[in-house]
Amino acid sequence: MVYKLNTQDKEDLNSALKRKGLRPTKQRTSVYEVILGKKDHPTADEILLRVRRVLPTISLATVYNCLETLVDCDLVRQVNLDRAPTRFCPNLTPHAHFKCSRTGEIFDLAMDAQTIANLKSILPEGFLAENFDLSFVGSTHEPHR
Ligand SMILES: [Zn+2]
Repeated sequence: MVYKLNTQDKEDLNSALKRKGLRPTKQRTSVYEVILGKKDHPTADEILLRVRRVLPTISLATVYNCLETLVDCDLVRQVNLDRAPTRFCPNLTPHAHFKCSRTGEIFDLAMDAQTIANLKSILPEGFLAENFDLSFVGSTHEPHR
């Protein structure tokens, strides 16, 4: 089944695009739909495959364009782990990532205000962070030996 945007999702998309003077095209809507539909931090290639179920002729270049727009509009975040291709995440709340090196699965780890404040406390005076990236790599199960 293909995930369908609910009214709130559509409103978020439309108003974010409008702020940049853009319209919710079928391509942009479908790409956003795919990212919200399965929050497994897909790469652009994976997103292309999923969008093609709805728009069979969409090109990778168009998908890249849509992704750039969605990131620009703060609807989706880019996630870079290891030297792997960029992944996309619709979770806009502050969070860290955990990548399971066994399965390649990526998990969102919520962060409370205290944790964020602790992290920011390592910044030297005069350093103003706009963003941060925190990711763990490891295993989600205890190793059996
Ligand atoms: Zn995430």
